[in-house]
Amino acid sequence: MELSEKAKHKRLEYQRKWKARNWDKTNEYHSNWRKRNRDKVREYQRTYWERKAMKDSVTDVSVTCLECGDEFIPQRKTAKFCSPACRVKYNRKH
Ligand SMILES: [Zn+2]
Repeated sequence: MELSEKAKHKRLEYQRKWKARNWDKTNEYHSNWRKRNRDKVREYQRTYWERKAMKDSVTDVSVTCLECGDEFIPQRKTAKFCSPACRVKYNRKH
């Protein structure tokens, strides 16, 4: 059975009102769902934190440039210089 757009909208509106009136039941339903689907929940959480960790490893760690001493956010974890110019200068000296 396909519902028309109007009917879907009506149903959504009804569900929203029902949820607002029955917060406890909604919460209970969700916590029951989580209990029944422990593996799924764990999988969601794992991918969530893995993704967060991956993001952080690129954006959060700042490195001090070996040549000019500026702090910068490296594109790669192994970067030691803020710019190619600093790398060239440093390599000439050493
Ligand atoms: Zn530099």
